[in-house]
Amino acid sequence: MKYQVNEHGYYGEFGGAFVPEMLYPNVDNLKKKYLEIIQSDDFKQEFELLLKDYVGRPSPLYYSERMSEVYGAKIYLKREDLNHTGSHKINNTIGQILLAKRLGKKRIIAETGAGQHGVATATVCARAGLDCVVFMGEEDVKRQRPNVEKMEMLGATVIPAMSGNRTLKDATNEAIRDWINHPNETHYIIGSVVGPHPYPDMVARFQSVISQEMKWQLMEQTGKENPDTIIACVGGGSNAAGAFYHFLDDEDVELVAVEAAGLGVNSGETAATSQVGNDGIIHGSKTLLMQTEDGQIIEPYSISAGLDYPGIGPVHAHLYKTGRVKFLNATDDEAMEAVFELTEKEGIIPALESAHALAALKKMALKKDQVVVVNLSGRGDKDMDTYIRMKNEK
Ligand SMILES: *Cc1c(COP(=O)(O)O)cnc(C)c1O
Repeated sequence: MKYQVNEHGYYGEFGGAFVPEMLYPNVDNLKKKYLEIIQSDDFKQEFELLLKDYVGRPSPLYYSERMSEVYGAKIYLKREDLNHTGSHKINNTIGQILLAKRLGKKRIIAETGAGQHGVATATVCARAGLDCVVFMGEEDVKRQRPNVEKMEMLGATVIPAMSGNRTLKDATNEAIRDWINHPNETHYIIGSVVGPHPYPDMVARFQSVISQEMKWQLMEQTGKENPDTIIACVGGGSNAAGAFYHFLDDEDVELVAVEAAGLGVNSGETAATSQVGNDGIIHGSKTLLMQTEDGQIIEPYSISAGLDYPGIGPVHAHLYKTGRVKFLNATDDEAMEAVFELTEKEGIIPALESAHALAALKKMALKKDQVVVVNLSGRGDKDMDTYIRMKNEK
């Protein structure tokens, strides 16, 4: 268990709960109750039933014959792209909405960048009949119209954040401000393994269904529970945390996290936090983040909105520092190439984020019998505008 959170909310030197005094009661209440609630039989039953009948789990583990040919290894794709709403994000929002109901909350808030987490949150709020307010930077509201329309159709109120660069960081600040003002009736659904303890641990537990399924699916298909390698992209790190979870203590399983290099790790236009970041505090936890010498957050850049985040979850900072997980990165161009390759070889259009994980295959020395699982975190529907533009520029 040396890679799990300790009783103080830390992964090694990273994690904790650095929140304003006004928020302390909310976070403390959550910390005291989350494990008891999510480990109760009644919660587990409802969570598992919804994952099955509402999300469509288990998501298939698909052996890709043609990618295996290309890369000279046994390549499997964990198909999170087939989930309801198109990515792994729904695993977490289902878990948190069930938790919020048991905490007696009547109102949900969330922040979103590209809108994927906002849509997944609005979706579960519609089903649960709870009020939903999503904060989104004004710039992102303009760039991600279709997701804004979806959230509104699902009954959510989308509030544009007008401060700073008017992107994700500013939306997060607004969400925290709202939570301070409505502490009793509101639950804040965070969308990745980030934020103050217990969020990173809670989100990782909800996403751990990914690696739990992989174990029996691999046993069925290869005769062994453990693959040789698992590859996942990292924005905040929730799909990677879920894909790695049940393999962390199996040190013979190679774990690979792939960050977005943007225009290149040293270009100044990047989101490869482990490579250019250092220790600091962001969104309530101590982790690695991209910052100036004065500790101001540097705007990240990636063509992929879901990876465009200036930090990584504290669990990943720890996994990076201890060397348990190998960190690679892929540029915009490399990811785009991977999008078109998977589409052509398998008839699967991946999300831009997931394409970063696929792009790592080219950077690894693979062996013929090596069993490699790539976590395909989402589908490409939301990225079609970008793909069409790229295709035309070629
Ligand atoms: C949001 C998103 C990501 C990045 O978030 P993580 O918390 O790092 O998983 C990756 N892939 C898809 C499809 C996403 O929507």
